[in-house]
Amino acid sequence: MTIIHPLIPTHCPSCKAPLILTSTGVDLFCGNTDDCPAQILGRLSYYCQRSRANIPGLSTKILEKLINQNQVTDIFDIYSLDYNLVSQWNGFGSKSVENLKNSIDQSKNTISPTKFLASLGIKGIGIEVASLICNQLEV
Ligand SMILES: [Zn+2]
Repeated sequence: MTIIHPLIPTHCPSCKAPLILTSTGVDLFCGNTDDCPAQILGRLSYYCQRSRANIPGLSTKILEKLINQNQVTDIFDIYSLDYNLVSQWNGFGSKSVENLKNSIDQSKNTISPTKFLASLGIKGIGIEVASLICNQLEV
């Protein structure tokens, strides 16, 4: 009987940074937290979900394009998007740009401190913990 050992990747498929093995020896992760496009996309997609900051206009596909063009790297970039650049995209007409802007503005104007905190993707801080923190801080 031949034992086949799986080939364990050594570098992140997204940014090519060396992968880090956790102390448990089970999980591999990319240590390029700030600049890895796949991690940025994951964080921003999570933030934009309906149950989070609720920005349905920012689909994964649009986020990917914005990240590839270095237009967004964190959630704050979402709120200062260059709509002139977006309006130059193929198939992205003025109505699409307006819908995107409205979607982002609505999120900005309606998100509660609790939902904002829970949307950041901080380990262990979901909506319940965020609510406790905001209540304690009286925000
Ligand atoms: Zn990476």
